[in-house]
Amino acid sequence: MVAEKSTEKNNITDIDVLAPTQEVIKEALEKLGYSSEMYDLLKEPLRMMTVKIPVRMDNGQVKVFTGYRAQHNDAVGPTKGGIRFHPNVNENEVKALSIWMSLKCGIVDLPYGGGKGGIICDPREMSFRELEALSRGYVRAISQIVGPTKDIPAPDVFTNSQIMAWMMDEYSRMDEFNSPGFITGKPLVLGGSHGRETATAKGVTIVIGEAAKRKGIELKGARVVIQGFGNAGSFLAKFMHEAGAKVIGISDAYGALHDPNGLDIEYLLDRRDSYGTVTKLFENTISNKELLELDCDILVPAAIENQITKENANDIKAKIVVEAANGPTTLEATKILTERGILLVPDVLASAGGVTVSYFEWVQNNQGYYWTEQEVEDRLEKVMVQSFANIYETSVNRNVNMRLAAYMVGVRKMAEASHFRGWV
Ligand code: NAD
Repeated sequence: MVAEKSTEKNNITDIDVLAPTQEVIKEALEKLGYSSEMYDLLKEPLRMMTVKIPVRMDNGQVKVFTGYRAQHNDAVGPTKGGIRFHPNVNENEVKALSIWMSLKCGIVDLPYGGGKGGIICDPREMSFRELEALSRGYVRAISQIVGPTKDIPAPDVFTNSQIMAWMMDEYSRMDEFNSPGFITGKPLVLGGSHGRETATAKGVTIVIGEAAKRKGIELKGARVVIQGFGNAGSFLAKFMHEAGAKVIGISDAYGALHDPNGLDIEYLLDRRDSYGTVTKLFENTISNKELLELDCDILVPAAIENQITKENANDIKAKIVVEAANGPTTLEATKILTERGILLVPDVLASAGGVTVSYFEWVQNNQGYYWTEQEVEDRLEKVMVQSFANIYETSVNRNVNMRLAAYMVGVRKMAEASHFRGWV
């Protein structure tokens, strides 16, 4: 969820994601009866490290990159969260992302607090060698504050299992000990978990099933629209198709495809590139704006922030909106959708499947005993179904929207733990 104002500065989209996150945290703590001191503790990360990473580029010159690592709250346990490589990374975004991670961990009841990292860079313009040097340099720079029992990183936008492997190797060399539990999202041969790559989409699929039941919608034949065809969106399209739903719209950064009779998902999956682009292959496309307003049963924003705003919230025709993306709906739009009787499943719940399976990976690394894909899927299903029910009931019983209910559930455990520790 993001504030509605966005500005373009030097080609960088500067969307304030921190202030609206703090607004809902404050409201959630007030509803739970906590003092303003608790809000003062939880409104910002406990720790925020800024590092400079010198990398010798392929042209022989040294380029100095800026990176961040935020640790929101470690009262419950070590902090956990991904590392983003993107030109738009900034301090406030990393802070907000670490708070969202804390909320996700609280919602799916993991023994973690939230963390997040980022490096200002464009990996699409870097060679493999430069990316490896940057990844290893980042780990050396933040090594004092991370570790398997302190803060456990993972992949995020534009980072993948190869980058996790380099980072794990660098940490293991410094530690002089093989440390697979230092990071999650690793390749299977290095202690990764089955089901990690598809975990977010699987989690979204499970909450869609739960939301559809509450709204009396049969998944078989339901009309689904998905914005974004990357890791989250494309696997979700596959799972929805397999569940018998009709995926009638998908999109990427360049446009959208619509077929009221259902798109050929297997063909689209086959033709998409590694950046989630597929619409360039077609002539008859519609815009992302038109896609969001299509007549459908279930709408899933799975691309970027700030897509459903007060400008278009009244034109959304879906009965259920499930936020696979982080922050696709503004607070104003959340209010409009809720008032219109649309069931909104918020990002901190809908996309928590990723961190849940990351936790499973860490548990397997600590045990040195590895689970089958079926075991991972069964455990994920149990966690997501329970978490959805918890938030849905909180929303109904406390008469609050699903976002506020999710924040209330998400913040409770860390507030309680901070209190028991005597911090507030
Ligand atoms: P990705 O980079 O794999 O794919 C992003 C997709 O969005 C691509 O299809 C891209 O073309 C499209 N896109 C980019 N800009 C767009 C625009 N302006 N309009 C429409 N479409 C646009 O990313 P992903 O991993 O699938 O993540 C998507 C969202 O889900 C992000 O908000 C991310 O934070 C969130 N998320 C992902 C995961 C995960 O495990 N992948 C976990 C939690 C949350």
